[in-house]
Amino acid sequence: MPGLFIDVKVADDVRKDAALAAKLEEVCPVSIFRATDDGVEILEANLDECVLCDLCLEAAPDGKVQVIKLYES
Ligand code: SF4
Repeated sequence: MPGLFIDVKVADDVRKDAALAAKLEEVCPVSIFRATDDGVEILEANLDECVLCDLCLEAAPDGKVQVIKLYES
């Protein structure tokens, strides 16, 4: 389930990438990503804490992470 204001998507083809998962967990200041044995987990309870810093977008290959502003759609 998305947050009320923000949804974050990680592309299926990189979702199980352990290195990317670790990087996302490290860069997000509000702990939206968790690195697990299965790759990237998105902590839905934290989605609306997103500060739109774009650090996750910079950490991932182009287009593989999306931060979606639900209030604009
Ligand atoms: S934009 Fe910033 S706060 Fe939002 S999910 Fe990405 S790293 Fe986390």
